Amino acid sequence: MRRPYIAGNWKMNMTIEQAEQLAGALVDGVSADTGVEVAVIPPFLAIPTVARVIEGSAVQLGAQDVYFEKSGAFTGEISAGMLADAGCSFALVGHSERRHVLMESDEIIRKKLEALLGQGLNVILCVGELIEEREANETEKRLNIQIRAGLEGLSSDQMKNITIAYEPVWAIGTGKVATTAQAQDAHKFIRNLVAEIFDRDVADAVRIQYGGSVKPDNAAELMAQPDVDGALVGGAALKPDSFLGIIAGA
Ligand code: PEP
Repeated sequence: MRRPYIAGNWKMNMTIEQAEQLAGALVDGVSADTGVEVAVIPPFLAIPTVARVIEGSAVQLGAQDVYFEKSGAFTGEISAGMLADAGCSFALVGHSERRHVLMESDEIIRKKLEALLGQGLNVILCVGELIEEREANETEKRLNIQIRAGLEGLSSDQMKNITIAYEPVWAIGTGKVATTAQAQDAHKFIRNLVAEIFDRDVADAVRIQYGGSVKPDNAAELMAQPDVDGALVGGAALKPDSFLGIIAGA
């Protein structure tokens, strides 16, 4: 049985004080015995503050990105070791905004993923097709490329530290949510692909979150799909009520 996993990506939003307040509200609202794993992903600058607020609570802490080198002359970058030191247990890699706004390649994303695993951190690997690809019936082709580039060659043991987030690019921040059938089909395709690359046990164990305009009123239906194991939430993670509403839906 896969435990539902809901992560809130705060993106480039909030002052440190706002982040502190939101984290505090979530600590108050999330209990350890809900059976749902909950994480927040603040901007880098708010990480130390949020780490302090959530200490000892059921809320986990992740980062939105990482650089793959360990240290040195990489101005502006943050390493996996620094994230671990600041209290993060995981980071996102390959978020669509990194792929399509910051032009990150599958190769860079793979290096970031390996840097995180090398520090003993968990990874949420984000994948998803553009609207043009969906309309051209190329969703599976894109997912195949992204999943193979991200995961092929890892060990089954390393896969225990990986979560996959299926986030159709056209659904992120647009209010256009995938239908439950679209989400389930893509998740099933990804799970079967993981079975092909590794084996059925690895595929049955890996959690696949859906991301793209998840809100309290659509979360329960999406997460009721057999291969949807939680959600990666953007906009609706910025307010305690809506994020807690999504958690309740799981
Ligand atoms: C995201 O940031 O990964 C995301 C899915 O955003 P939103 O929920 O706002 O679509």
